[in-house]
Formats: sequence, structure tokens, C-alpha cells
Amino acid sequence: MPELPEVETVRRDLERYVLGKKIFGIEIGKEKIVKGLGVEEFKRYLKGRSFLKIGRRGKLLIFDLKESKKTLLVHLKMTGQLIYRFSKGTVGGGHTQKTGKLPGKYSHIILKFKDGSELFFNDLRQFGYWKLVSKKELEQILGRFGIEPLTKGFNWKGFKKLILGRKRQVKAFLLDQKMIAGIGNIYADEICFRTGVLPDRRIDSMDEKIIKKLYKEIENVLAEAVDKRGTTISDFVDLSGKSGGYIKKLKVYGREKKKCIVCKKGMIKKVKVAGRGTRFCPICQV
Ligand SMILES: [Zn+2]
Repeated sequence: MPELPEVETVRRDLERYVLGKKIFGIEIGKEKIVKGLGVEEFKRYLKGRSFLKIGRRGKLLIFDLKESKKTLLVHLKMTGQLIYRFSKGTVGGGHTQKTGKLPGKYSHIILKFKDGSELFFNDLRQFGYWKLVSKKELEQILGRFGIEPLTKGFNWKGFKKLILGRKRQVKAFLLDQKMIAGIGNIYADEICFRTGVLPDRRIDSMDEKIIKKLYKEIENVLAEAVDKRGTTISDFVDLSGKSGGYIKKLKVYGREKKKCIVCKKGMIKKVKVAGRGTRFCPICQV
């Protein structure tokens, strides 16, 4: 599933390519992707409008529409992709190896802009959604998210207050969107590794020094992953159809049964923590 760094990569690309472009036509192949309004009403609402700003909260994309009472929310969920194609037919930066033909079998929504360019929403598993919400609904939805990493709101004082003394396993805490927004399975494992804690370790067994390290590694891992334009395990691509570069930086995720590249002694193990497949090094992490 795309996590904060992947969704942020898509958001930045979208701001570069689609802001201010007038939506000329909308094709919807799978009606269930559109939540809330009926498909026809949804199309009617978007037609002729343009995007003013594209924001993000956790893994959720927030499209502000020009002169509109509603906001468009897009969630990529498990396998959603947003791919932009210029009017001359080339995809984003011209990389088509991961996307194949467009529109493809899984292109469920296509936005056609007046300048001839198009935005494709592909989704193999179809858990992703598009939804128009009122300002009030938006407020309610955003209110459910925890603190947002990589912003001023994510500071040591606030983090310490949020986490200290909790009895939960550290990975379960990291995955809880109501605590911290945007971390999923890949980055939770990488953050635990870099902090040197086992993913199932209880938070109340960690002293303040380790908690501070955890706080710093959340920022480090996510910032580096944004810098590398995310991680592609299976489906994630950026707006130009390109894979994320953070995959080369992964220390534990996807490395089960391989030797740890840091201590060069431990064998990376895979177990279940917080209901998710979890990787760790039994030597580097305690
Ligand atoms: Zn190790």
C-alpha cells in the first residue's frame, strides 16, 4: 500500500502537472470507486472545474477545486495509481515500463483536461476511492488523523506526550493513523529497525532516550523515502509511471531469510506483529 512517502510523491507531481487545468471530460469504468455521490452527479460536478491546490493528510490526497463548496478526496489504498499523460501521448517523464498501455484494463477513472492531457486512475484491487465531500465532512475526516510527520506539528514535546507510558507494541502504535498519520507496514518495520527496537516491544518498556531515537527515525526514514520518491514493492508508481527509489535503502522489509546488511550476523526474521507481516533483525533490535 502506498504510504506517506509514496502519496507525497504523487501529490508533488500532481501539483506540477494538473493545477489550473480545466476538466473537460470524465470517464468512469468502475462505479464503485466513486463514493458518496452517484456517478452522473459526480461527473457533472467535476466537469468544467479545475484544481486549485493539492494537499495530503496521512495517505489521503485532498484536491481543492476552484470556486467549489466541495473538495475531492482520493485514496490509493492497496494498489491505486495516478498516472498523467501529456497531450502528445508521452506519460509524465516518459517512463511506461510499469504502466503498460493507457488506458489499461485497470484504468477505472480517466480525467480529460482541456489541453488534451489526461489523468488515469488505475487500481488492480479496487479498494481505492474518489469522493466529493463538503467542507464539514472534510473537517470531520481530517479530525480523525493523528499528528502529521514532516510538519511543524510533529515535534518532540507533542510526540513524547502522545507516546510515553503506553502499553501497546511499538509497531501497532506506528501503524495507528489516529496517533501518527501516514505510516504503513514498510516504513513501520524500517523505523523499528533504525531505532533498534523489536516491533513487538511494548512502549512502556522503552526509556526516554529510545523514545527520542524513535521520534528522530520516524522523521529520518520518511524524509529520506520522500527524497527517493517512495518505495515500489509491487504496484506503486509516480505520476510518470516510474518506480520509487527507496527500495534500495530498505534494511529489513522484504529481506526475510537474508543476512542483515548492518550487523552482518543476524538473519532477518519474519513474524506477525499487529496482524501484519513484520521483519526484524534479532541482533540489531532488542
Ligand atoms: Zn542486524
